[in-house]
Parts: sequence; C-alpha cells; structure tokens
Amino acid sequence: MSQAPKQKYETVIGLEVHLQLDTATKIFCGCANKFGEAPNTLTCPVCLGLPGSLPVVNEKALEYAIKVGLALNCTINPFVKFDRKNYFYPDCPKAYQISQYDFPICRQGYLMIETAEGEPKKVRINRAHLEEDAGKLIHDDAHNCSLVDYNRTGTPLMEIVTEPDLRSADEAYRYLQDLKLTLSYLGVSDCDMEKGSLRCDANISIRPMGEQKLGTKTELKNMNSFKAVKAGLEHEIGRHFAMLESGQSIVQETRLWDEARGRTFTMRSKEEAHDYRYFPEPDLVPLMLDNITVEKVKASLPELPMQKRERLMQRYQLAAYDANILVQDPVLAALFEQCAARYADTKKICNWINGPLMKELNERKTPAATIGLTAENLADLIKRVDEGVLSNLAGKDVLTFMIDTGQSVDTIIKEKGLAQVSDDSALEKIVAEILQEHQDIADQIRAGKESAVGFLVGQAMRKTQGKANPKKIGEIIKKTLSQ
Ligand code: ADP
Ligand code: ZN
Ligand code: MG
Repeated sequence: MSQAPKQKYETVIGLEVHLQLDTATKIFCGCANKFGEAPNTLTCPVCLGLPGSLPVVNEKALEYAIKVGLALNCTINPFVKFDRKNYFYPDCPKAYQISQYDFPICRQGYLMIETAEGEPKKVRINRAHLEEDAGKLIHDDAHNCSLVDYNRTGTPLMEIVTEPDLRSADEAYRYLQDLKLTLSYLGVSDCDMEKGSLRCDANISIRPMGEQKLGTKTELKNMNSFKAVKAGLEHEIGRHFAMLESGQSIVQETRLWDEARGRTFTMRSKEEAHDYRYFPEPDLVPLMLDNITVEKVKASLPELPMQKRERLMQRYQLAAYDANILVQDPVLAALFEQCAARYADTKKICNWINGPLMKELNERKTPAATIGLTAENLADLIKRVDEGVLSNLAGKDVLTFMIDTGQSVDTIIKEKGLAQVSDDSALEKIVAEILQEHQDIADQIRAGKESAVGFLVGQAMRKTQGKANPKKIGEIIKKTLSQ
C-alpha cells in the first residue's frame, strides 16, 4: 500500500505545532506557569474567566514569541492584536480562547531542514501566533466522569503553522526534529512532548503527480511523539491512496491516531467543524511593537543549530556527521570547543564526545549539563591516551571515574594504578606467559595463521586488566613466534 503512492500520487503535509512558553507567570494573569502542581491550585479570577476580571499581557511572553519568530525567519508584525476564538467546552471556562486571528505576531518565515537524501529544503512557515492554553480534562472511566484541571489554563502558547510544503512522513519527522532543536536553543520552552509543552497536529492530502491543486485534506490529532506523527501520517497516506484507488473520495475531517491499534478514526467531520466566530478581544488594546524592541530581541538570539553546525565544520574541519551530533546538544558542543582550545586533534575530541561520553550519558540517563566533567579534564584524558600512557580501554574507565569524581586524569591513573604498561621487558614477560598458556594457538600462528594473534592480544589485555599496550603486545608476539 505504501509503495505505489510514491509514483502515482504526491503526498502533501502541513503541520501545526503548539509550543508552551516557559514564562514565570501565565499569559494574561499573575498565576504561576508551572507543570505538575496539585490540580486547580494555580488559578485566579482571570484564568478562570470569572465575570469582571481583566487580562493583562505578559511582556515576557511577547518577547519569547518575537524570539521564536525571528529564529524561524519570520516578519514580526508591529501591530499586535488579540482575538476571541469562541467555543464551548469544559476545558475553557471563559467559553472563548484569547488567540490571534488576522494579525498574528509572526508571519511568513521558514525553517531549513535536510531531506533523507541530504538535500537542504526550505519549509515555509505561514504564521506563528500567540494564544492561551486551555485547561486539562482527565477522563476517569472507573468513575464514569471527567475531571478538569485549570492549572494549564492561560499558559502562554505559540501556534506555529507551516505551508503545505512537506512531501512525506519522513520530511514531517525531520521538520519536527529540527524545529524542536531550534526552539530548544532559544530557551523559551522545555519542548517536552511528554509534558505537553510541544504538541503537533498534522494535515495531509494526496494529489496526482504533477497536479497543482491541493487534494482534500484530513487533519490528524492525538500523536504524542514525533514517531507517532510519522506513523500516523504513514498510515493516513496509505488510507488516502486506497480510497482514491478504489474510486472513493476523501472526506475532509479531523481524525484521531490510535497508537495501540495503529490506525486513525474519525473524530469530527467538516459539517461538525466549529464556527469559532472570531472577533477582536475587547479587553486588550492592540499593542504597537517598536523596532527597538524587536532589534533588542534579535540581539539576544543565540547562535542557532544550523549556524553552529556550519561554524564547527569550518573552524574545526569537522565532518557534517560529527558536527550534526554535536549541535544536538549545545552543552556538548561547548565542551567540544573548550577541549579544542586545549588539544589540536579535533577529530579525536569529537570521537570521544560522540562515542564514550555519549554512551555514559545515555547509560546514566542524564543530560550533559548535569555532569561535572570539565573540558580541561577531558582534554587531558585524551592526551594521555594519545601519548600511550593509557590504553583506550583504560581511558574509558578513567572517563567513568572522572564523571563520578571530577578528579583529573593523572590523579585517577595514580589512585587506580591504570597507567598502561608499555615497558618492553614487562610486556615480554606477559607475552611469554600467554604463549605458555596457549601453545596450540602459538603453533597455529607459527604455521602462518596471523589472524590468531588478536586472540592472544586479547588474553594479554585480560591478564593485565587492560593495562598492556595492545599494539606493542601484538608486535612482541609476532617477533617472538617468528624467531
Ligand atoms: P484550517 O483552516 O483547516 O485550519 P489552514 O489553511 O489554516 O486550515 O491550514 C492548516 C494547516 O494545514 C497548515 O499547516 C496548512 O499548510 C495545511 N494544509 C492546508 N491545506 C492542506 C492540504 N490540502 N493538504 C495538506 N495540508 C494542508
Ligand atoms: Zn490566573
Ligand atoms: Mg487554520
């Protein structure tokens, strides 16, 4: 089912991403903007929508929105106006959401992504606007009721909407990853999908190859990871294709992704779609953003992932692959640069960070920012391995101690007795023992089976708990057996 559409039909996808902004307080009131507190403890008359209460715009939320817009290459609209989006549902106590309709704060930007073929691709952003989040409904099947938590009500939210520029589920996935990385660099949100800080709805249609007119779309909701977005889209592409191939037409509707069953089902049809009756929010006067404000935010933008990647490649002659891994975590990228200031072999530094260090971090399930590994210690460790003082294997052990204790490489070598044995007479003694213990293998090597040398080297490493210099061991074995 997923083979044929590639040739005959073109897939068209547009994404709507909601991003919670990590401000101290909510967007229109002074309640704390915090996740995970006891239900309904972070509320006030404003976010509960009690009559007579009046909203006031949170300046920080505006600043963050401008930041997001600039990072996505958008035009910042100087005229900031809010509108009421009316709907009736228990998650929204006012029965309207304050949002932005015809004058979104950010318009017409783009994000550069890389396709599976490694080609750069521009994904246009149609708009990004500010709004308030709704409360959270918890459906309690056991008691046959729904509970509502208004702590989330009024959390500043940005909705980032792409043009229908994406052409496959994989491109959508890549866009989401790159978008999340860019947003996480800005420090305006924790971008945590599990906490609901980042959410995505996906719109999809297919059309005959070469056709310009867009096909009828369906909107997919209820995906709680990027993988789920990809899986949901893949399934939906197949469903559209099968419908069209069998002569049926697609019905414009909103569908829910059922992760457990691996399929989508109807949530509401176009006829049931809400009429939001947008109108200007009368309790908030429109704001004029001056140039100075926007310029100030622009000056505060950090180096963004794409820029960092280019710079790392140019300045340190890194391969795109290595640079890509480093930019995934600005803390690791900074560690790399600090090490590079102390040690010239940037490729080696990169290998240590992308290899053993990342492995340690994954095992510990801890972000790089939380460990006390200094660049000085790491650079010294790499030096000691290169000098042959430490074997590669022992070096990895040292790294573990280093992360645990913050001690320097030389202290750890001394305390743990880890220095690599490179002294010829000591190594010759070890080789003699090994040959004695494995005479059959020694005979095979004498008979020309060079590949068996590795086994003996392994035995020597085991015997010395990784302290022997493996290169030298190998040489001594060959020399001894050729005599
Ligand atoms: P709606 O009015 O239903 O919200 P919008 O025009 O605002 O639709 O678009 C919402 C999202 O859907 C955008 O990301 C847009 O790019 C995408 N989109 C719109 N039409 C299509 C289509 N025919 N196929 C795929 N995506 C589409
Ligand atoms: Zn409040
Ligand atoms: Mg829309």
